[in-house]
Amino acid sequence: MGDGTTGPTDCIFCEIAARRAPSYIVYEDASTVAFLDLFPFTRGHLLVIPKRHGARLTDIPFNDQMAMVRTLDEVCRRVERLTPDYNVALNAGAKAGQIVFHVHFHVIPRYGEANPFLGPGRARLSDGDARELVGELARG
Ligand code: 5GP
Ligand code: ZN
Repeated sequence: MGDGTTGPTDCIFCEIAARRAPSYIVYEDASTVAFLDLFPFTRGHLLVIPKRHGARLTDIPFNDQMAMVRTLDEVCRRVERLTPDYNVALNAGAKAGQIVFHVHFHVIPRYGEANPFLGPGRARLSDGDARELVGELARG
């Protein structure tokens, strides 16, 4: 784990935080990263993670929890450029739907869909859509 900015190499979010794996990052600071979800529920679906590895919120130090919320606030403000409506979610544990065991908040913009969580399979984010979204969301 070293300085806390890297973690197990079998954790995809640690790889993203360390920039060893590709992602579309919209915000980064010393202890957090926010990037586009690769299989978005809706346009602009973002994830907020701490750089330090921990499976769930209760596994990481208070300072990293606070940093996550600060970044969550920042990305919510940016998502409001797309729509004033969005869901914030945190899945903890497999039975709660957690698939990636590196703690993350979802920010899911809503545009009037009936229920994007129960809809048909999610399409993989295209490079074109991702670049357009980074243009809209990566500026401060
Ligand atoms: P969970 O169900 O664990 O709360 O959510 C994990 C999220 O991570 C899912 O929405 C999934 O689409 C996303 N995801 C999984 N692998 C990757 C990846 O390699 N890159 C990105 N950007 N998102 C991923
Ligand atoms: Zn990790």
